[in-house]
Amino acid sequence: MLGVEKMRGKLILTEGGEEVLEVDESKVEDTLNQIIDILADLANIIDILKADVSTIDVKQKIRLYSDIVVAVFNFPMITGYSEVSGQGRRPLINSFEYLVAYALGRHIDIKPEEIYGLLKAGKLMEALTKIDESQARQILNYLNSKREKLAEIYEVLRKIPADTRPGYNISSLPSHMLLTSAIQWGLQQEGADLPILRLASVLHDVGKIKDYKNHVKGTEEFFNRLMKKLQVSEDFRRQLEYAAQKAKTHHQGEGYIDRADDMASMMDRIDPKNNPEIGVKNILKELGLNEVLNCMEKSDFDCIDNLKEDVYKDSTVKIFRRLEEKFKKMRSQELPLRDVKATSMNLLYVDFQGVQKFINYFPKLKDLATASFLVDFLVSTLPFVILDAMIRGIGNEGKQGDSAWKGNYLPLEALLSGYGGHSMIVVPSPSQNSKMTLEEIRKEILSSEILNRLDVSLGVYLAPLVGKTGKVWLYPEIWDEISAQMRARSSVDWSEKILAVSDHRPCDNCGIRPGTEMIDKGPGGKEILCTRCATVREISNLRGLTPKLKVNYKVGDKLIGLGTKSEGDGKSIDLSVVQENAMQIIAGTPLDIKEDERTHPHYVSILKFDANNASRVYKRTLTIGLFLDTSFSMDYSVKVGFSETLKELINAKGPGRETDQLDPGEELALRILIGVLYLGGDEGLILLPAVVSIPFATRFLENVSRLSNFKFKSGVVIVKPKHPVQFAITGAGTVMEEAKLTKEPVPKRDRSTKEEASENSLGIMFASSGLITDETVETTAKNYSEILRLKNDLGFMEEVIRKALNSKNNSLLRDVANLYGEIIEREPGDLTKRAKETIKVLEDVTSVYVQNRNRLHLIAYMVKERAKTQDESIRDLLTLLLKEVANSPDLRGVIPLLDALFVVKTLRSGMS
Ligand SMILES: [Zn+2]
Repeated sequence: MLGVEKMRGKLILTEGGEEVLEVDESKVEDTLNQIIDILADLANIIDILKADVSTIDVKQKIRLYSDIVVAVFNFPMITGYSEVSGQGRRPLINSFEYLVAYALGRHIDIKPEEIYGLLKAGKLMEALTKIDESQARQILNYLNSKREKLAEIYEVLRKIPADTRPGYNISSLPSHMLLTSAIQWGLQQEGADLPILRLASVLHDVGKIKDYKNHVKGTEEFFNRLMKKLQVSEDFRRQLEYAAQKAKTHHQGEGYIDRADDMASMMDRIDPKNNPEIGVKNILKELGLNEVLNCMEKSDFDCIDNLKEDVYKDSTVKIFRRLEEKFKKMRSQELPLRDVKATSMNLLYVDFQGVQKFINYFPKLKDLATASFLVDFLVSTLPFVILDAMIRGIGNEGKQGDSAWKGNYLPLEALLSGYGGHSMIVVPSPSQNSKMTLEEIRKEILSSEILNRLDVSLGVYLAPLVGKTGKVWLYPEIWDEISAQMRARSSVDWSEKILAVSDHRPCDNCGIRPGTEMIDKGPGGKEILCTRCATVREISNLRGLTPKLKVNYKVGDKLIGLGTKSEGDGKSIDLSVVQENAMQIIAGTPLDIKEDERTHPHYVSILKFDANNASRVYKRTLTIGLFLDTSFSMDYSVKVGFSETLKELINAKGPGRETDQLDPGEELALRILIGVLYLGGDEGLILLPAVVSIPFATRFLENVSRLSNFKFKSGVVIVKPKHPVQFAITGAGTVMEEAKLTKEPVPKRDRSTKEEASENSLGIMFASSGLITDETVETTAKNYSEILRLKNDLGFMEEVIRKALNSKNNSLLRDVANLYGEIIEREPGDLTKRAKETIKVLEDVTSVYVQNRNRLHLIAYMVKERAKTQDESIRDLLTLLLKEVANSPDLRGVIPLLDALFVVKTLRSGMS
């Protein structure tokens, strides 16, 4: 086949429809080498890892290794949004690090029954400390240091289809490998040889990275190369050889891996064995795609590899659309789908009831960041620990080993998704000896004292996934079942149990719940708190925000950190002062907090964003594999888009400073990293210095949108650092919803339905005085509807800044880094002058409108000012605003004057 370009790719869903991403064949060889290097490093690390004084035994090593290999293919879910520099001890910075540390540490030095016991008893602090102290940290540090490599690997893998044939190429190789392992685990409930089989399952199709047709040989080569790189003890090597043997021969027998592989394939593609109505070959006939049909009938993979690009892509999309139509018809005939008893595996869905309400409880950023950490922890880590215990047979009575599955445990790949306040976990079906019914699982999770102390509730639902006879359920069917259970539950109203305050004084923090616990408040003081506030406060001194202040971040080759030391060190800035003033620090106030806030007020922006129409797209993911691909890719795009934008900001540098000080770009990047409250799935919430917030937000959304093929809406509110953070967050949420920018629906060439398409957009609101809440946002939007648009496209926002700073750069981040340099050095220059001048002009124009509320008068005034001004960029800015009206029907369009004023006001942060 020399000289012929091989064509293969994977279907992805986008907001506007479908696309086929082509495999980057030039990167395939390098990707394989990187995977082998990382897997070899990990085996070598494990082999010498010490639990106490001695290395761990070989069974634990192989268990540990199989969980880590999953983590490597589970990027991005497993790694955070930034590389944290960690030599030796460093704090774990988010809930996922705790989950992975638990999953790995339980094979080293964590006792699952101990963590389970602590969480069930409500001793959260002790549980976190145990996980924190595990040697698993060393592996986390290694994975963290490989973050960029893992991202590159995933970028290549996400485009490689598990099955290269058009119509079957709707699930990616990584999701197929993880599902195979999860199913294999469910089939094999005794747990014998579990880690070996998992390792073999996860890697069984690794040969497909290079080539679909010869993948069995490829897998063999992969293992041979990996084994050569290992420098491990003889007994560990023997176990790895054994796993390699199982993986290499996966197509030859009737073993668990073959069966799991078959079933995972049925889940990846809609298989005629499973749904006879909708076989791909039938569809090819119906659609007259004879060229593809010919290759398929002959099972000729050279023929498929050599399909022309347009034929391959076009038929992939056409087959998917026809599958979708057929599937809709099939469902309307109400096939028996919900026979939960006949399953071998089910899908558990856990969600947090009332996330916003819970978060809104905490006016201090320090506590709110902890509450946000807890939302993730309670929906993912807590159920993971409890299910792990149930499967191990650590039951209600605290007895061990009465389970049907001695030696069994919950594998890491069972966690299919875990962000945005919910998680999905694969669980085995109830059997004679096991209690994995919905009622038992729900009871186990909900009876955790930690939920009681925090007074939060989780929704726990269960849907069928794989049947005993080999039937598999498709994603829309699974989702239907979960939604039906959710509706049934929401009719049983859950409410917080706010006790009568009469007998107690109210809690000193929230003022709502009865204060029942006496807590030390630092030097000399005590406060009386309710159980919720006390629980959050206890851990917020060490978790949530605090680790973010302590660590050094690595962005590109730059290492940036605050240099704060823990209390009592004395050499550096006191951490507790920084903690209490976290909003000021994020806004840009120097660390020693000496800044006079009245003369040089810094402002902080709250950025909230999420993907437009994502739930509509998720509903179209026919298979679990496609669902996983869509959600992993989204999460990957958000995290990688964030670090790409940080790198741009760091490269923008700004004027150099003394050697021991961070450049302005680096300093801004660090403050943004500290301000991340939530980033994952298809959404995020970030606090950042006002001065950089608009150029950062626009570049960030452009990057994420390019990587994910989705469009995003976002809202920014700008407040003083003393503003109660929880209200500002609800305000940002309201601005974000108002900002959603839809395009005119266009009928698609070959589609009967019109779909709503959207654009990336950014709404903005500034509060220099007074409170921002969801209500004030709505009132302001209504009162100023003629001059406040909120639905701004990103180009408009960038153009306003470009004009305001008279930018000749193509990087607005560079302009802002330069401006920030002037601000922090207290050396006002051209940029400071420009920013102030522009604000003055826009304030003047706005006041003309506010005085007489006459739109036409305002337009006339702006035209007059434009003619009068000598300043070219002010003239351009006024033209830009007027153009929005000129282009609207009957000149009724909104003049985005207030939007522009808010944008330029961000630039004034920190100026006198
Ligand atoms: Zn309270």
